[in-house]
Amino acid sequence: MTETLLYEGKAKKVFTTDEENVLLHRYKDDATAFNAQKRGSWKDKGKTNATMSAAIFAYLETHGIPTHFVEQVDDTTIKTKRLTMLPVEIVVRNVAAGSLSRLLGFEEGRKLKAPIVELCYKDDDLGDPVLNWYHFRELGVSDEDLEFCEELGLKVNQVLAPFFDERGIILVDFKIEAGRDSEGNLMLADEISPDTCRFWDKETGEKLDKDRFRRDMGGVEEAYAEMLRRVTEITQRGAVD
Ligand code: UDP
Repeated sequence: MTETLLYEGKAKKVFTTDEENVLLHRYKDDATAFNAQKRGSWKDKGKTNATMSAAIFAYLETHGIPTHFVEQVDDTTIKTKRLTMLPVEIVVRNVAAGSLSRLLGFEEGRKLKAPIVELCYKDDDLGDPVLNWYHFRELGVSDEDLEFCEELGLKVNQVLAPFFDERGIILVDFKIEAGRDSEGNLMLADEISPDTCRFWDKETGEKLDKDRFRRDMGGVEEAYAEMLRRVTEITQRGAVD
């Protein structure tokens, strides 16, 4: 199969293949934070992000959520549908952390009364700002697409919060993206991994995600391995359908 590099990002490479409308996403061990001002790399990061995303996309599909996922090709690579992405980052939060703590002056760890959805404009130069619907209309993003994004975020949260709870993990917050396939269908895309979610151990409160890297906490390789173990081992045992 001929692979042609389409795009190289901070943590993955995307290739076109002989198959039309199909892409390969190959996850790297590299990491960046704070808009690429901080860089690092650790063993098996790419494997964790690819394998966890694959398992979770497959799980979401069984719960009626359309995704771009086709199959996992190898340890670090997943095959997906080719989409035209919406310029929106959908952030969903159950517990205050990170930028929400700063925005509202909430202590990190404060449980929210209800999930909060934020629609951010995907633009590194602007720092991915949270926008309202008026801003998005000005940028040409339709109300229908924004409505899809909000509903998608809440539905994914409804499915994944219990999924992680059964694995001893609090799903604090996460970021997803959406896009449209060649037939015009909107669906979930991007990845779901410790790079894009905050995961806290339910018993100990230990952080098992990219905050360990962002905040120089150490143990980042072990944290990613632990999250991969919790997602794949239990899924393979079939404890959760
Ligand atoms: N997030 C992401 N990519 C981004 C920004 C945020 O995947 O460009 C994720 C982040 O890992 C966290 C959630 O979205 O799980 C909320 O992040 P927040 O807005 O608190 O940003 P931060 O404090 O990390 O800058």
